[in-house]
Amino acid sequence: MARKVLKDGEAPVAAADDGGSYDYDLFVIGAGSGGVRGSRTAAGFGAKVAICELPFHPISSEWLGGHGGTCVIRGCVPKKILVYGASFRGEFDDASNFGWEINGDINYNWKKLLENKTQEIVRLNGVYKRILGNSGVTMIEGAGSIVDAHTVEVTQPDGSKQRHTTKHILIATGSRATLVNIPGKELAITSDEALSLEELPKRAVILGGGYIAVEFASIWKGLGAQVDLFYRKELPLRGFDDEMRTVVASNLEGRGIRLHPGTNLTELSKTADGIKVVTDKGDELIADVVLFATGRAPNSNRLNLEAVGVEVDQIGAIKVDEYSRTSVPNIWAVGDVTNRINLTPVALMEATCFAKTVFGGQTVKPDYKDVPCAVFCIPPLSVVGLSEQEALAEAKNDLLVYTSSFNPMKNSISKRQEKSIMKLVVDAETDKVLGAAMCGPDAAEIMQGIAVALKAGATKATFDSTVGIHPSAAEEFVTMRTLTRRVSPASKPKTNL
Ligand SMILES: Cc1cc2nc3c(=O)[nH]c(=O)nc-3n(C[C@H](O)[C@H](O)[C@H](O)COP(=O)(O)OP(=O)(O)OC[C@H]3O[C@@H](n4cnc5c(N)ncnc54)[C@H](O)[C@@H]3O)c2cc1C
Repeated sequence: MARKVLKDGEAPVAAADDGGSYDYDLFVIGAGSGGVRGSRTAAGFGAKVAICELPFHPISSEWLGGHGGTCVIRGCVPKKILVYGASFRGEFDDASNFGWEINGDINYNWKKLLENKTQEIVRLNGVYKRILGNSGVTMIEGAGSIVDAHTVEVTQPDGSKQRHTTKHILIATGSRATLVNIPGKELAITSDEALSLEELPKRAVILGGGYIAVEFASIWKGLGAQVDLFYRKELPLRGFDDEMRTVVASNLEGRGIRLHPGTNLTELSKTADGIKVVTDKGDELIADVVLFATGRAPNSNRLNLEAVGVEVDQIGAIKVDEYSRTSVPNIWAVGDVTNRINLTPVALMEATCFAKTVFGGQTVKPDYKDVPCAVFCIPPLSVVGLSEQEALAEAKNDLLVYTSSFNPMKNSISKRQEKSIMKLVVDAETDKVLGAAMCGPDAAEIMQGIAVALKAGATKATFDSTVGIHPSAAEEFVTMRTLTRRVSPASKPKTNL
């Protein structure tokens, strides 16, 4: 393999044989999305790789985790399973105008879903271990920390410690949910516990306006709970396109979720009837479950980073350059622990680029342009590229905004009062599509294809010349002919609602 010594300012092609003799070429700490991808890809290039991961448990702690990481055990996968479960309610409601006569009660068995969800994450945990084993990666169970630039110490579940020397270290330890510091906070749960509750709550309070908060609001509402969602801003989903946020808020309300914008929680206390929740507006309510979905902190504090000179920012995120290299040249970090874009596919991209750059003889940076994402509330929101507000903030030219708000065909029979909305933001000079968004059924499935178009540099003319698939909602993206508005960079972006 071609190797050369790193110099400041130079693209970090893998360090040459530095003369040292190590147990491994690469030691990875954390076997979540980024760690597994990084270690497998490096092993595929012929590197001798070891990875350490905490013992498996659905609810994470300083000493518990599991192969597969957040995405598989307590994030994307279990959440989507619960979203599927919750989505049936709407389907049952919609079915009658299609001729389905559902007589009697429809009963819901939460324990069955929980059991099936747990079985699935246990299965996937095994799949990840097998994949690593088949790739020739040595798996070590325990908590990793860094002794010096070339030594990792693993504290095993029985308390014993092992030291391993390595040419490179990859930190991929992810992040963990945090609790807001208010009196009674120990009564609240995080998304970890929310995915593994023994009993389905009848009354749920959620604090937070981010994607995890609105997703759990949809899950619990769909499964039959009364849901109160509290958030600080005027609208949920700060950072997304304001028009889409408005639609999401109105859909959540339309599905029966009680929204409390501009409201914080100030205190929780235990009563005979449940948890008493007090708001900063002086209101009180009783809940069976209070979920704090208010943020996550990088898992960096137990890695001994300070001692070895790996720099972190004020929230503990590891500082890296555009190749994911930390302030110590042979120590690298990818995924949520670096707090760039905290999504599974982004952790995978960063890890792949790392392995190619350090072990594959290529020099590849992660590309953060046009990263698509979805919010799996019901119905979902999905976006790619710039929001109208971001485009306006960056724009040199006027923007052409096309929107289409329509009643999906299915709703015309079911009589559900819920519109879908699609949006394209276009540069008026170049005709390039800068951003696309959709809120409505199957938004994530549709947006993945639109993301390919944006990545390929599609113009509005390309969209217009594309033949639609009929009848579908997706065809609306290629038939938006009427301009909704033209906005000039001189006009102030309307953000932070
Ligand atoms: C509720 C929820 C829903 C989500 N939904 C989505 C979604 O729909 N789509 C999406 O793209 N992203 C989603 N995410 C985000 C996604 O899960 C993360 O971005 C992704 O898992 C980050 O991967 P990672 O490798 O950086 O970290 P992780 O997957 O968290 O992996 C880190 C691993 O390191 C281990 N570890 C930590 N410290 C140590 C140590 N000292 N020694 C050994 N091991 C250690 C942990 O146990 C863990 O297994 C969701 C997250 C949550 C919480």
